[in-house]
Amino acid sequence: MTAADPRYPLDLVGVGIGPANLALAALADDQPDLRTAWYEQRPEFRWHPGMLIEGTTLQVPFLADLVTLADPTNPWSFLNYLRHQGRLFPFYLSERFHCPRAEYDDYCRWVSEQLSSLHFHHRVDTVKWNAEHQVFDVDLTPLAAGGNSPAVARVHARSLAVGIGTAPHVPEPLRPLIDAEATAPVIHASDYLEHRGRLLAAGHITVIGGGQSGAEVFLDLLRRRTPGEERLHWISRSPAFAPMEYSKLGLEHFTPDYTRYFRELSEPVRDQLLRDQWQLYRAVDQETLGDIHDELYRRTVTHGWPDAVLSPGVAVRTAGRVGAHQLELHLDHQPGGGRSRLLTNAVVLATGYRERPLNSLLAGLDADLGRDAAGRPLVDEEYRLSLGPKIGGSVFVLNAERHTHGVGAPDLGLIAHRAATIVNALSGEPRYRLPDRSAFTTFGAPVQQPVGAEQERRDPGGFPGTLPPPRSIPV
Ligand SMILES: Cc1cc2nc3c(=O)[nH]c(=O)nc-3n(C[C@H](O)[C@H](O)[C@H](O)COP(=O)(O)OP(=O)(O)OC[C@H]3O[C@@H](n4cnc5c(N)ncnc54)[C@H](O)[C@@H]3O)c2cc1C
Repeated sequence: MTAADPRYPLDLVGVGIGPANLALAALADDQPDLRTAWYEQRPEFRWHPGMLIEGTTLQVPFLADLVTLADPTNPWSFLNYLRHQGRLFPFYLSERFHCPRAEYDDYCRWVSEQLSSLHFHHRVDTVKWNAEHQVFDVDLTPLAAGGNSPAVARVHARSLAVGIGTAPHVPEPLRPLIDAEATAPVIHASDYLEHRGRLLAAGHITVIGGGQSGAEVFLDLLRRRTPGEERLHWISRSPAFAPMEYSKLGLEHFTPDYTRYFRELSEPVRDQLLRDQWQLYRAVDQETLGDIHDELYRRTVTHGWPDAVLSPGVAVRTAGRVGAHQLELHLDHQPGGGRSRLLTNAVVLATGYRERPLNSLLAGLDADLGRDAAGRPLVDEEYRLSLGPKIGGSVFVLNAERHTHGVGAPDLGLIAHRAATIVNALSGEPRYRLPDRSAFTTFGAPVQQPVGAEQERRDPGGFPGTLPPPRSIPV
């Protein structure tokens, strides 16, 4: 019985092994009746290797590991990883809620090395629906050099889990700077650590982008430069180097309750909300902003004002190379207006990431894919793409649903819950018990207590200790 024979398909094939699909693989591992296989183009699990800067931590508590928020008894938890590494007591005494980013990367790799259904060094090229056998045909390219593996391979599955994540984004005005052969380095933040030495060897360095990555790169460069000779410039389009919303009630936007509410809104309202909520996901955490200020201040004590310029409200209009060692940025200053020209010797593009498009992978399903008015795929409450009646299987997406599910789509705090939802959908029964309610905030129309609410409160009918789910009364 092999998945290469369409008569014996797998229950689920996963495309991409980042944290999102790794969480699903970890929860599916506990379901012996589910036959799964997962494919990742990289040679091993790596989580944003270019940004594992010394001292950086996860921005969510360690409880947002691959499994705990769906099943704290699952063996693939962060605490079990610590136990296996012999670090449980030191971790407990360190009283840290936010673990180092490099440790999260190592934890995920530890999980990935033990799940036998994971296959690294395999790129998934295309997916098609095989109407004769009622399965998906999944075409792969094994990427490992040498060996006896065939140039291409095909496996079959009843359902797919597409977790292909995001790719570095470079805005249009900055594209003329990209030239791998050129001497003056222009590096996307996703490759920062690999090129840090080259950047520091350049004279003047400009960091473009006022989000978390921009702040971390700026701070790291600042700490590594000699006081008084920093020669750094940090530019952000946002009107301020703004702090991330991190209040406890604010974080309730990253709960299943908010996801449920968001999904029910109309498309234009969802799009507007995402634009308005930039401070929930595009700003900088307070601690990093504080560390930058502290580092700058420390330098003033012995060396006067540091040679570092921090400019919010500045957009790059055009950019280009000047000779071998210089880069030229033409800047628009907002909101006051004005233009300027900045010459620099190296640029870090902390300009973010974009969801990898599903188009080429799912080109074979294109005619059957339901889309919204903006042409984006429709995704249901169980993370399934809306597919026409000809397609008998399900395609689940993980972290491609921000437009339908809200700001929490890429958040590590929701990956276990999403994975459990998908396992439940796949198996047709609640294998993982998920909470009816996850936030104190009532999102949407205010709740009125219906008649009989007192009785219901005493006997909620949900899990022990939970409040009944909020109800909206139609008006
Ligand atoms: C520097 C950084 C720090 C972050 N820190 C946090 C944080 O602290 N807390 C938080 O909540 N969120 C954080 N995020 C956001 C988010 O959680 C991460 O980006 C997370 O990695 C998303 O996981 P993913 O599995 O969806 O995608 P990815 O991690 O991007 O993984 C997708 C994988 O799919 C593979 N792939 C793509 N196409 C194919 C194909 N055709 N065939 C085979 N494999 C393929 C890719 O190689 C990749 O390994 C951070 C993001 C960044 C960039």
